[in-house]
Amino acid sequence: MMPKLKSIDKIQFQNSLLNWFKKNKRSLPWREQAHWYPVFLSEIMLQQTQVDQALPYYVKFIKRYPNIHALSKATEQEVLSLWAGLGYYSRARNLLKTARIIVTDYQAKFPRDIKQALMLPGIGKYSASAILSIVYNLPYAVVDGNVYRVMSRLFAVPDDIRLNKTQKSIQKISDQLLSNIDPGNYNEAIMELGAVICKKQNPDCIKCPVQTFCEAFKKNEQLRYPIKSAAPSKRKITHHALIIVNKEAYLFVQRPASGLLASFWEFPILEMKKKDIKDELLESELKKIYGIEGKVTLKGDVFRHQYSHIDLTYQPVII
Ligand code: SF4
Repeated sequence: MMPKLKSIDKIQFQNSLLNWFKKNKRSLPWREQAHWYPVFLSEIMLQQTQVDQALPYYVKFIKRYPNIHALSKATEQEVLSLWAGLGYYSRARNLLKTARIIVTDYQAKFPRDIKQALMLPGIGKYSASAILSIVYNLPYAVVDGNVYRVMSRLFAVPDDIRLNKTQKSIQKISDQLLSNIDPGNYNEAIMELGAVICKKQNPDCIKCPVQTFCEAFKKNEQLRYPIKSAAPSKRKITHHALIIVNKEAYLFVQRPASGLLASFWEFPILEMKKKDIKDELLESELKKIYGIEGKVTLKGDVFRHQYSHIDLTYQPVII
């Protein structure tokens, strides 16, 4: 069962956290300007991505598209090629769609109304809360992976963090703990605490500004939290990337407009089980799917790539 909030002094907790953040916050480029656009851009990039990974992409984007008007005029291919390597490419597509909607429907300003914000492509509860609190100082509590960990430890949450009901309870506690006077800084502070102090391994409790409120610290059980059941196992797929050369030209095909890596260009792919990897089968599949006839040769080097839910193995095949 989730613990009750009344066990800690809310105002003291907020002050400890906010004072620590004021003195220790990292210097990040999107914190340098008091404008909504850098916050919006960085929050989209930071979805499921750590600051260190997002930082070089943010710098490239802000240089190429210094404001919402410039971004709204970009093509999808331009945005995707600048995003290449950051992953979760639907974010890049949604970023562009949202930029265009903001310019045409909201006079080039991020909407203040949370209902309108949540209707923008790629803006979920987390991003809307982060942007509205940081930009407009509106009282919406953010809960990301870092906040789940901090809250789980602060309250020694005994329930599985993967469960919907546990996540809802943590959102509720976060809503209650939020500073209504300074929600933007409070949200940034709690996320920063999770990123730099209350880390997954080796939480730096000695430097923690809210150590006196922490149940896990009191019990010396910091690493026990958050309680998390095992992740579902990933689907394993073997893809054969067909490298088809004609003189000096290579054949590429475009992926479907929705799903994994939507609309990306790639070598033609055959999806087969390991036991079926035989030249004749590859050749007949190649003919059936792409209408191409040729003698295939498996090339030795295999490449693996892991997504959150599938584990892909690419076996190059030369034709
Ligand atoms: S005392 Fe340690 S475990 Fe508790 S919130 Fe601070 S860093 Fe995390």
